[in-house]
Amino acid sequence: MDFEFATEHEAFRKEFRGWLSTHLPPDLCIDDAADDRVASDRETFERRCRWQKAMHAAGWVGVTWPKEYGGRGVGLIERVIWDEEYAAARAPVLPGNMGLSLVGPTIIHWGTDEQKRRHLPAILAGDEIWAQGFSEPGAGSDLASLRTRAVDRGDHFVVNGQKVWTSGAHFAQWIILLVRTNPDVPKHQGISCLLVPMTTSGITVRPLVLMTGHHHFNEVFFTDVVVPKANLLGPVNQGWKVSTTTLMYERHSAGGRSHTAQIARLMALARRVPIDGRPAWEHPWMRQRLAQLAIDSEALKLTRLRSLTRQLRGEPPGPEGSVLKLSGSELGVRIADAAGELLGMHVLVNQASATVPDAPRWFNRVLAARQYTISAGTSEIQRNIIGERVLGLPRG
Ligand SMILES: Cc1cc2nc3c(=O)[nH]c(=O)nc-3n(C[C@H](O)[C@H](O)[C@H](O)COP(=O)(O)OP(=O)(O)OC[C@H]3O[C@@H](n4cnc5c(N)ncnc54)[C@H](O)[C@@H]3O)c2cc1C
Repeated sequence: MDFEFATEHEAFRKEFRGWLSTHLPPDLCIDDAADDRVASDRETFERRCRWQKAMHAAGWVGVTWPKEYGGRGVGLIERVIWDEEYAAARAPVLPGNMGLSLVGPTIIHWGTDEQKRRHLPAILAGDEIWAQGFSEPGAGSDLASLRTRAVDRGDHFVVNGQKVWTSGAHFAQWIILLVRTNPDVPKHQGISCLLVPMTTSGITVRPLVLMTGHHHFNEVFFTDVVVPKANLLGPVNQGWKVSTTTLMYERHSAGGRSHTAQIARLMALARRVPIDGRPAWEHPWMRQRLAQLAIDSEALKLTRLRSLTRQLRGEPPGPEGSVLKLSGSELGVRIADAAGELLGMHVLVNQASATVPDAPRWFNRVLAARQYTISAGTSEIQRNIIGERVLGLPRG
């Protein structure tokens, strides 16, 4: 594998880095002391929307999307560079991330021309913020058991039911919804996918607050919600196939934050924090622990590049997304555990102190790390997929 970037790729990096350094407002940069994937309040959300618009106007949103829908039409390598530079600048997750990473690619694959024209430019411009309405109280890992019902009434469906864990639904203007359109066939064959404006009468959003105190996701209730047939994405009763496209993109984009940056911060912390009267850094067991995390992070980076090489050869992303998702989220938990061991009781304090000036960051990391092992399919489910579809083991 050639690790060097070509001249035109380095030029792309330089241009994007330069643009970010002159345009990204410092007060929008994330400090890692809060969960940043969904804005903590409406004011922050709106400032981030303005940021997405500024980026879009300069052609930096959806760089790999086709030009005809307002994207830049560049390749996967540029996308990797975009991710690296965006993270290095500590720029905030774009508010339209759900639309950009999951909904847009699904519409590009399954949408009618009218749906593509209607939604794709608006997703890029940050004019449409999307939520993902898949999980239900009785349908998470076993998503095909979903019971939210859509009854065919000629030119429209009437939807009744409940979704749960719906990230950012309190800000979203649209939701991509999985519904049961035929309850009389095997469960995977009676599901359809609908694109629904959140302002439709009969939709109620109730907050669910994470243990970090952050309002990240919600319960969403549907009571006699009327959805025109034109909002059906893909063929009726083929929603399982549509959702597979969405989940494939989700697993490839999931896995937690930049591990390299977190491990570097953990090493800096180990130099400062004392254990048994000397800096933690001087204890061989702690050095080994940190070295192992650095090795795991590097191995993950290389596995990600290998998956990229396959995609560059034109092979579709496959179940290896589960390997990346599993390793990334579990490494995040190991980093959080090491922080807990290093900081002892300090890790329970959400306030800066002389010993640990960045205590809020570690408090948040330790509480938040495990969520990535649940969202986008749990670690157990990823292990099942790897066992059955990558290793060819018999079903348990
Ligand atoms: C931070 C966060 C954000 C989320 N955002 C969204 C969102 O925006 N939209 C959305 O639709 N959903 C969202 N989810 C929901 C997420 O997809 C589900 O939580 C996840 O799929 C697990 O489903 P569940 O919570 O119902 O758990 P369950 O499926 O009930 O699982 C419970 C436990 O049983 C284990 N288990 C279940 N089945 C098996 C099996 N076959 N083999 C082995 N073990 C098994 C699981 O691994 C888990 O440990 C989010 C979740 C989190 C944590």
